[in-house]
Amino acid sequence: MNSGLIGKIEKAHRYAQEPERVRIHHLEATFNGDNNSYEVSFRDNKWNCGCHTFSTFGDCQHVMAIQKILEPMLPEDTTSEQQSQQPTA
Ligand SMILES: [Zn+2]
Repeated sequence: MNSGLIGKIEKAHRYAQEPERVRIHHLEATFNGDNNSYEVSFRDNKWNCGCHTFSTFGDCQHVMAIQKILEPMLPEDTTSEQQSQQPTA
């Protein structure tokens, strides 16, 4: 194999240990829940899910789970914890 490419593969292994290097801007996913599958999307810094919980509360277990999985790769102001900031009164 080309020795230059071997160096790139080694770098890829190192990068793969550092997920915070990656920023996800747009995502479409199917979440296989216990009973049903749901379409989850992330676009323009907004999450969406096709489940009833999300349409009622604006958040749900599927979005929260994906946020946990992808946390190092998401823009900083999109996780649920950071959205519950104190209002500046
Ligand atoms: Zn959901």
